[in-house]
Amino acid sequence: LREGDPLVENQITVCVRKRPLNDKEGRRREVDVISVPTKNQLIVHEPKQKVDLTKYLENQHFRFDYVFDEACDNELVYKFTAKPLVKTIFEGGMATCFAYGQTGSGKTHTMGGEFKARQFSLFRKVLINLAEIKDKYFTGGNKRFSIANSINIETISKNYLVKMESKWPKTFFKLLSHPKYARNNYVVSASFFEIYGKLVFDLLAKKQRLRVLEDGKQQVQVVGLTERVVTKVENVFELIQKGSLERTSGQTSANSNSSRSHAVFQIILRKNGSRQVDGKFSLIDLAGNERGADNGKSNRQTRIEGADINKSLLALKECIRALGRRGAHLPFRGSKLTQVLRDSFIGEKSKTCMIALISPGNFSVDHSLNTLRYADRVKEL
Ligand code: ADP
Ligand code: MG
Repeated sequence: LREGDPLVENQITVCVRKRPLNDKEGRRREVDVISVPTKNQLIVHEPKQKVDLTKYLENQHFRFDYVFDEACDNELVYKFTAKPLVKTIFEGGMATCFAYGQTGSGKTHTMGGEFKARQFSLFRKVLINLAEIKDKYFTGGNKRFSIANSINIETISKNYLVKMESKWPKTFFKLLSHPKYARNNYVVSASFFEIYGKLVFDLLAKKQRLRVLEDGKQQVQVVGLTERVVTKVENVFELIQKGSLERTSGQTSANSNSSRSHAVFQIILRKNGSRQVDGKFSLIDLAGNERGADNGKSNRQTRIEGADINKSLLALKECIRALGRRGAHLPFRGSKLTQVLRDSFIGEKSKTCMIALISPGNFSVDHSLNTLRYADRVKEL
């Protein structure tokens, strides 16, 4: 995979990424039940039991455009998923990239909205340790946190964030200055919103609630959505950081748990002086798909949430499938998610990439199989 070139002609690309076993899974003595024999094959070794209680493994084979194993980093995943799509929006098409999978499988890690409280605190901890060690050896006494205080944690964490981010905004801005596109004099802006059930919240405006309207020509508009003009890569990172923090903050609001909502980050391209959208790149961190599974024990609110998530993921699958078929019916009204993304599912030039994320542990095998079957159906004719 490292030496290979991405499939640039595909209108729909479906791939799977498997993350490494984490500490929690290790402590529970889970085993890795997913193997990746080639760059586009994956096998699930599902532990089963016969009637006579003898244990065995049932191997289920899958094939996708790409399968990324735990040795693949964000950069490599990016090269084969989002990167080939960046050009699309300069050439009259819409580009969309989805992260699909169960909570904890690596959706946010992959999409680049990586600025998370835990990582921040880990970073902070390093600084504080540094301060402690320095005090012990050089100054002694009470000024334990002197270094942590004198170094501006905000500034460093911002630089740290830039390093962690996937590189698609960089590619995007590089293309903007390419002579072929520079002549067009584009205005670039970005928006970031969250869909929770039937509600839409603006992540760049303190989670203000927004309405979605559809006009007579089926054009869908999110009314009042904040659009920030961006002129350089750093602007994009700042907005991602701001929105990601907004998304996970607010313990009291119903949708503070990011696994229950879809997050949509969009880069919008317009010719200077025009209102018309020329191209749009959408990056979508979907709600955890396990939320949509029927869970008999859950309460009413959770069941309603689950039904909404399930409905939106089913509608999404049908809309992506419609993109690959001339004249197919586009069931975009099936959910808020597909409604706001309507224009991304139209046109021969539009492209979509679905990245299905899976946890490798044996406890997750049912969820992983659900995810893989869904991803399989997205492309199946
Ligand atoms: P999700 O958004 O699907 O709920 P996250 O992206 O938050 O999942 O990932 C859960 C945890 O696993 C995070 O701590 C994340 O940093 C880690 N993680 C996810 N994918 C990988 C990977 N490919 N390599 C290393 N760590 C990962
Ligand atoms: Mg997440």
